[in-house]
Amino acid sequence: MTRARIGHGYDLHRLEPVAPQGAGRPFVLGGLRIEHDRGPVGHSDGDALLHAVTDAILGALAEPDIGQLFCDRDPQWDGADSAVFLAEAVRRMQARGLRLGNLDATVICERPKIGPVKDAMRARLAELLHADVSAINIKGKTHEKVDAVGEGRAIEVHAVALLVP
Ligand code: MG
Repeated sequence: MTRARIGHGYDLHRLEPVAPQGAGRPFVLGGLRIEHDRGPVGHSDGDALLHAVTDAILGALAEPDIGQLFCDRDPQWDGADSAVFLAEAVRRMQARGLRLGNLDATVICERPKIGPVKDAMRARLAELLHADVSAINIKGKTHEKVDAVGEGRAIEVHAVALLVP
């Protein structure tokens, strides 16, 4: 009998001035492009929210994590849309007879502000997860100006996903 399963995902990306000033890619979070003078440094598009959600689902399934499935030295994933990674996690979830019960994510960064884009982000995640938007929650927090996250040099995301039959 298939039972509910819970998983946690975490991700952090360094934020640097967007190229050519620095190594930052255009800022994307939750599948949305957001205007910001810094962007994530990463092999793929650096979407920390989609990475954390992907790992929460893979973790719930006790399957290999995002770094194992999509190696950050594989040129195939250079600049990749992270929706591709999440789609693979969703495919594995559905193959196991599970769907998303609910998702709760916390985005920690000093800037940009998450509030104004939260609803659009929830809608995009609901679409990617084949879930109702009421099952998706995103909270934005700052790091109170301390440490790398608080100084705007990194973005951090925690996500918890409950999968149900
Ligand atoms: Mg990542």
